[in-house]
Amino acid sequence: METEKLTELKTGPANGAPEPLEPLIYELGAPGRVGVSLPKTDVPEAELPADLLRADLDLPEVSELDVVRHFVRLSQLNHSIDTGFYPLGSCTMKYNPKLNEDMARLPGFALAHPLQDPTATQGALALMYTLQQWLAEISGMKAVSLQPAAGAQGEFAGILMIRAYHLANGEGHRTKIIVPDSAHGTNPATTAMAGLQVVEIPSDENGDVDLDKLHEVCGDDVAGMMITVPNTLGVFETHIKDIVDAIHGCGGLMYMDGANMNAMLGVAKPADLGFDVMHYNLHKTFSTPHGGGGPGSGPVAAGEKLAPFLPGPVVTVLEEGDDENPPLYGFTMPEQSIGRLKAFWGNFGMMVRAFAYIATYGAQGLRSVTDHAVLNANYIRARLKGVYPMPFDRMCGHEFVCEGHWKDIEGVHALDISKRLMDYGIHPPTNYFPLIVPEALLIEPTETESKEACDRFVEAMLKIAEEARTNPELLHEAPHVTPVGRVDDVLAAKQLVLCCRPIPEHGA
Ligand SMILES: *Cc1c(COP(=O)(O)O)cnc(C)c1O
Repeated sequence: METEKLTELKTGPANGAPEPLEPLIYELGAPGRVGVSLPKTDVPEAELPADLLRADLDLPEVSELDVVRHFVRLSQLNHSIDTGFYPLGSCTMKYNPKLNEDMARLPGFALAHPLQDPTATQGALALMYTLQQWLAEISGMKAVSLQPAAGAQGEFAGILMIRAYHLANGEGHRTKIIVPDSAHGTNPATTAMAGLQVVEIPSDENGDVDLDKLHEVCGDDVAGMMITVPNTLGVFETHIKDIVDAIHGCGGLMYMDGANMNAMLGVAKPADLGFDVMHYNLHKTFSTPHGGGGPGSGPVAAGEKLAPFLPGPVVTVLEEGDDENPPLYGFTMPEQSIGRLKAFWGNFGMMVRAFAYIATYGAQGLRSVTDHAVLNANYIRARLKGVYPMPFDRMCGHEFVCEGHWKDIEGVHALDISKRLMDYGIHPPTNYFPLIVPEALLIEPTETESKEACDRFVEAMLKIAEEARTNPELLHEAPHVTPVGRVDDVLAAKQLVLCCRPIPEHGA
């Protein structure tokens, strides 16, 4: 988009209060208007429990068309992976193939009820079993549980498993988990949630774990270490083997945050690197929708030592099959399981999508996912080098970090660059994370973007760097062309307005 055009548009809707083209839903209703026609009941009517009914809800009464317009219009206000480039570092906003959606909607999967007898849902169980096997193979681990509903819940499971292992061995005094300062924020949070103590380790000048500092804290009070691979600077630890050996040497176990396995698929197996337990994010690496698009799934994979402690139930073969009969699958609890993390069997719809994704790509395809994720990130990194300051000048994995600030330009910050990117139809990268890089912009193009799309992003970033010098106001007042202009982020976070009606003191 032309810079002049964007400047002209400065007085557009984004700068004043946004004028909705259509009335908002709370202005649409009329008493008695309905959007559904229910079939005649074929069961006896029953009174609703009076104590659950509220007369003061005052919900809009609207037609089907009103509702459709309202929600379609809302969806058009949003940026999405289906509408544009989305380089949100760490979050892996890759394309969600529509084939996965078709598979998840097959009636046998979509309409299966969790209370059905497993003998009636053998197809669904076979899918879960196969997915467990595939995820075990990709990681090199012994067994997998599909229970956790998010990456962070997978981490929580893993740390509880490490704790349970030490307790089972009479080593309850091991209460410390070492977490590098380049770890994802969920890692220390998980440790604290599990009731263990976080011991933070700094990174060295190359972005690797400081090995000397690590050796200083290794001792018999260490339960284990959680490490994000690649770390949140987007780099693969140079001394990963030394780190693993140090922790194992003092009797601890190694947890790998594998949310970003799109940097390693088919290249390295976490078990081969010495990890004892890890989690996946199906809603990142295996393309299931996220970011407002659907529930998550964070399967946890464990090696020999920790497999008995996996959360359950998991799917196992109860009776082997033969030429004529398929195997009989059932749900079982691992021997020393930490227990359940979730009602029923986990987010099954996400398992179907991930299964479809892996089946579509195959082993070679998954390997090329990683090749392209790493290639795209390094291509963009190389093209922006010298224009945006980069704290670590080295090969990256699936993402890299640069600084959204120049020493010789006062007043332009990462936030301004991010907001300006929106004018170019691009979702901002992750801002101000990782915390150890000031003014961080964490950029992850993902492997599903073409070279042309990566080039368009680079061109926008280069133009913005130029604008920062020639017309910084353009950045400060951005975004100019979005339906909503720059919002007060602090106020928006502190005074959430989640009601469909305007609250008088906040305006609309
Ligand atoms: C996204 C992410 C997580 C957390 O996953 P959720 O599903 O959001 O809980 C953990 N670690 C890393 C490295 C991540 O990128």
